[in-house]
Amino acid sequence: MAFLEIKDLNVNVEGKEIIKELNLKLEKGKVYALMGPNGSGKSTLSQVLVGNPKYKFSGEIFFEGENIKDLTPNERAKKGLFLSFQYPVEISGVTISNFLKTALNSLKGKKISPIEFWKILDKHSKKLNIDKTFLSRFLNEGFSGGEKKKAEILQMLVLNPKLAILDETDSGLDIDSLKIVSQGINNFIDKEKTILIITHYRKILDYIKPDKIFIMKNGKIITEGGRELIEELEKKGYEGLK
Ligand code: ADP
Ligand code: MG
Repeated sequence: MAFLEIKDLNVNVEGKEIIKELNLKLEKGKVYALMGPNGSGKSTLSQVLVGNPKYKFSGEIFFEGENIKDLTPNERAKKGLFLSFQYPVEISGVTISNFLKTALNSLKGKKISPIEFWKILDKHSKKLNIDKTFLSRFLNEGFSGGEKKKAEILQMLVLNPKLAILDETDSGLDIDSLKIVSQGINNFIDKEKTILIITHYRKILDYIKPDKIFIMKNGKIITEGGRELIEELEKKGYEGLK
């Protein structure tokens, strides 16, 4: 049984066919990269996976053998799905630590003690070189690109999902931030976790080694393979891949 299996997925947005007959299987404990040019449907796929109601689709989505296609985003999160935000929103008046505490309580369905929460937060913040003052800032307000991405990875570490979909977590990061964020992701990787890294640049894949790479174009997975695909991509570009 695959950990996540997508069968015959079709997605239409505003009358336009964005994803066509897409099939995808992910195994537990593996790291995957989903690459493809802008507009190929990568973010649409991730939105459908986490249950964004804006996206109407047909097809099946099995997560640990259970069809989750009719579950709400919250129900999916409780099962262990996590999606980072490609364009994280600003939320006024909510500090990062409060936001994370609320998210964790909601996921667990119970109130975690303040001491317990701070232990978790402190442990993961240290991994990402995040200091205490950052945690009391309002979510995403005036954050630099790098800070937003660190906050996303911090959220992933705190929520501790089974499947993490990271949509362009590398975009807009300088090389130092990219290294720290990659390290945070690498720390998270183990045989109980499945990670899908969505990107259109190969840079992050110098730091995080995927087990398999999928290339998506025009709403379809056009090819899959190992690291050699990155070299091929480098030489031929997305246009040259068939
Ligand atoms: P990628 O993440 O690979 O760059 P997207 O999934 O963001 O691609 O977009 C694929 C196509 O779907 C694009 O043509 C985009 O304009 C369209 N699209 C995605 N989401 C929406 C939406 N909410 N409303 C209208 N068009 C959308
Ligand atoms: Mg995208």
